[in-house]
Amino acid sequence: MIPGRHVVFTVGDKTGEVDCAAYEPTGKFRNVIKKLTRNDLVKVFGGVRFPSSKHPITINLEKIQLLKLVSKTILENPLCKKCSKHMESMGKNKGFRCKKCRNKYYKAKKTIVKVKRLLHEGLYIPPPRANRHLTKPFSRYGIEKEGFNKFFPNEFWGLKSPQFNLTNNST
Ligand SMILES: [Zn+2]
Repeated sequence: MIPGRHVVFTVGDKTGEVDCAAYEPTGKFRNVIKKLTRNDLVKVFGGVRFPSSKHPITINLEKIQLLKLVSKTILENPLCKKCSKHMESMGKNKGFRCKKCRNKYYKAKKTIVKVKRLLHEGLYIPPPRANRHLTKPFSRYGIEKEGFNKFFPNEFWGLKSPQFNLTNNST
């Protein structure tokens, strides 16, 4: 998060890295970005803002496709065997102590806990009010005269069929 409530993150591949910015008018779209984690595989779409003395080259995000979400884990303090409550650390590699029963477990280690991802793979587009007027509104996808699949064959999305997730409740 940066002042003005923009969200900036970095994407990279074997050729290098670039910053991406989701600006405040994109509203809840930013919540999608905030839930991403390191090593998620994404495809980003947007306009390129050329570098200046104040900022590096940046992609102004207009939409994002989440291709593959990694599983996310956190380290938690272990539970007391007696009370089943999370214990407190007695210092690095010094074990854990239960605040309730005061039992000490000198050999206890932090446990790895898998966190539920609050995101799904798919295409995310900001609400219409955030779109530049040349950006096709979400509501127009799939009803083009020439046909959606002509311009966006399934291989383009890396999916068997396009999958959409609305980021607002307006439709
Ligand atoms: Zn206890």
